[in-house]
Amino acid sequence: MSKTDLMITLQPAGREVFPGKIFCIGRNYESHARELGNALPVKPVVFMKGRNALLPHGATVPFPTHGNDLQHEAELVILIGKTGKNIQVSDAESYIAGYGLGLDLTLRDVQSELKKGGLPWEIAKAFDGSAPLGQFTEQVSAVENLEIKCEINGDLRQHGFCRNMIFSVPELISYLSGIFTLEPGDLIFTGTPEGVGPINPGDHVKVSISEIGSTTFIFSS
Ligand code: MG
Repeated sequence: MSKTDLMITLQPAGREVFPGKIFCIGRNYESHARELGNALPVKPVVFMKGRNALLPHGATVPFPTHGNDLQHEAELVILIGKTGKNIQVSDAESYIAGYGLGLDLTLRDVQSELKKGGLPWEIAKAFDGSAPLGQFTEQVSAVENLEIKCEINGDLRQHGFCRNMIFSVPELISYLSGIFTLEPGDLIFTGTPEGVGPINPGDHVKVSISEIGSTTFIFSS
């Protein structure tokens, strides 16, 4: 993939940003933690993906072949705009360059096996094309008001509100920056509401977040 293919375009001005590190937060909505039988986290559950997980806009999403149960997790994605370390919760918003949407694709069968063994999740979570991105915008009125929906072939599967996050976006930025230096272009997948489920070859998965927009991801058949 060329560098141009991966640029994130921020609406409305069309400013382009090259993506950096990709942080993902697990179990950040109580309803989703419970549907997978997980305990509620007392601090953020963090994992990472590489740029291999991104796809050029409009590209068909490839089906991974090392597992059988590919699942959708529709998520609000935060784009970091400046370098920061040990950021205070009260300053965190000034480090945000944009708000977007994406899918944290997961091979659930592979992840379940890894979890049983207490092993890292990367092969279930960070494979090629596992973090397709959609629309991004520079501003939203308030993160708490954002509403997330995920539809497959027109059927509503996930529906939630960002106000139901266990750790808020400023808390996530503060926590991550205490461990990792945040840099312009870094992305944070902020977790998924309940309703995750399987994707089949050829499915059209539409993710919508109010104030940001919607993107339909088409999976290979
Ligand atoms: Mg997720």
